[in-house]
Amino acid sequence: MNAGAYDGQMALIVRRTEYLDGEGNLCMAEGPENAFGYRKSIFRDHPEWTIVRAELELAEGDPAAILLKMNDLAQRRREKQPLNYPSAGSTFKRPEGHFAGQLIEQCGLKGLSVGAAQVSEKHAGFLINRGGATCADMLKLIETVQNRVREAFGVQLECEVRIIG
Ligand SMILES: Cc1cc2nc3c(=O)[nH]c(=O)nc-3n(C[C@H](O)[C@H](O)[C@H](O)COP(=O)(O)OP(=O)(O)OC[C@H]3O[C@@H](n4cnc5c(N)ncnc54)[C@H](O)[C@@H]3O)c2cc1C
Repeated sequence: MNAGAYDGQMALIVRRTEYLDGEGNLCMAEGPENAFGYRKSIFRDHPEWTIVRAELELAEGDPAAILLKMNDLAQRRREKQPLNYPSAGSTFKRPEGHFAGQLIEQCGLKGLSVGAAQVSEKHAGFLINRGGATCADMLKLIETVQNRVREAFGVQLECEVRIIG
């Protein structure tokens, strides 16, 4: 899915991947052949392919400075994200020209619940499970948030999380 945060993304460091295609053939995808985009890659289009190896190209740096940066980023996450509850991360993709969490917050939806599924009070971009939420609760909450944001801003929030089954 080309995970990314704080101006970084896997696309910037993956040089090549090796994968098994649907028939079990070992194949290789070099750089652009991985077709990375915002939260996507060629592997999203081919769920039957399995990555077995990836070659990453990292820049050398000062270990102490790298550790400081890692700690800083981890700290920023702890401060802003509801990591004390289960979630699937950011529920919605960033709509062009907006931030999903900001739009949801501006609709006054922080804390909105369906059963035990809730729009996090800490970060409105995260829908959390406060304990015992069902898939139906979560889907209903996602739909409610999408409807309210569309009505208020004319923006269609698209799911970043994948719903399976
Ligand atoms: C608190 C929190 C914060 C998050 N913050 C961010 C963020 O800032 N930025 C961001 O981009 N994401 C973020 N995420 C989402 C995160 O990137 C995904 O949850 C994670 O990448 C999923 O990987 P996984 O291996 O855990 O899940 P899995 O469900 O195992 O895999 C995810 C997908 O990859 C496929 N897959 C797994 N292994 C292979 C393989 N070997 N070959 C081919 N396909 C494979 C699976 O079929 C599935 O479709 C966050 C998630 C949480 C919970």
